[in-house]
Amino acid sequence: MLGSNKENAGCLRRCCFVLEDYCNVFQFCKFLKQLGKVMALFVAALIGTVTYAVVFLTHGPKVVEGSTAQQRWGSAIGVLAFLFLDGMLTWSYVVCAFTDPGRVPDQWMPFDSEEEAITELQRQRYSPDPKLAGLPRVRHCRKCQAWKPDRAHHDSMTGRCVLKMDHYCIWVINCVGLLNYKAFLLFITYTCLACILATGLLGPSSLNFVLEKPAQGRMPGMVFVATVIAIAFAVSLLGFIIMHLRMVAINCSTIEMYEKRRVANWPYNRGIRRNFAEVFENEPSRWFVPTLTLRHRQWLLDQALRPLTGPRIESDADV
Ligand SMILES: [Zn+2]
Repeated sequence: MLGSNKENAGCLRRCCFVLEDYCNVFQFCKFLKQLGKVMALFVAALIGTVTYAVVFLTHGPKVVEGSTAQQRWGSAIGVLAFLFLDGMLTWSYVVCAFTDPGRVPDQWMPFDSEEEAITELQRQRYSPDPKLAGLPRVRHCRKCQAWKPDRAHHDSMTGRCVLKMDHYCIWVINCVGLLNYKAFLLFITYTCLACILATGLLGPSSLNFVLEKPAQGRMPGMVFVATVIAIAFAVSLLGFIIMHLRMVAINCSTIEMYEKRRVANWPYNRGIRRNFAEVFENEPSRWFVPTLTLRHRQWLLDQALRPLTGPRIESDADV
């Protein structure tokens, strides 16, 4: 005879733990980490190709050799604008890749005393699944053997819990979380803008190449390839940016999008304006800079490490 739902779910949970111990699927992560190094070089090669086509093959030479003053000035402004976006996307990339996404401090726990922590740990280990028993659940990471703040998730690539983890990005070879999410969003935004501008700058030369008209610049075949790369990146990144802006508007990470379906009132949504300010900071002058001020960084950490007072989200998703 089948047991109750509670017993079945408890049994399933224990089976998953055993299976997870014996078949560590995250061995695959080591491969992804190695792949990330290749992807970073791939990104650099693609950006380098487009930059070379704009600066050295088409509009750079026109700044000096253009037949009219209008053409020379137009090319100069185009090249400068492109180099500005190139610089901003590189800065954002470096900040995103080398910033710690948010570490849970050693010995952090959401209890007033050690005894409370031990009691809760024993309850979680030896009681039936507390989620199903309808009891509030304090999150504990089995892999780190440590308490886990709300919105933190275990990242199998870096082997630790990350505050407000969004995803592990193989393009930047780093986990994207609380402290580098702004840099990540600015990286994809500046890259998209640079690709749109490059498409506009390289488009006429590429069109001539396709229509087999006499080439106006150098290496028309390479300019055409750079244009295709720019269009492909611009289109795919645009969709990605729209998806992330929607999540910023409701204060939700990529992982939490799956959790949110099970929560009626999302406790972190503080209104669009405050949600945007949480990621991009309050002052408009800071919105376009990939780094965080020390004050905002500390505020984010204080928010992420304080016990949640609203409805608790019963999720333990690890990535
Ligand atoms: Zn962990």
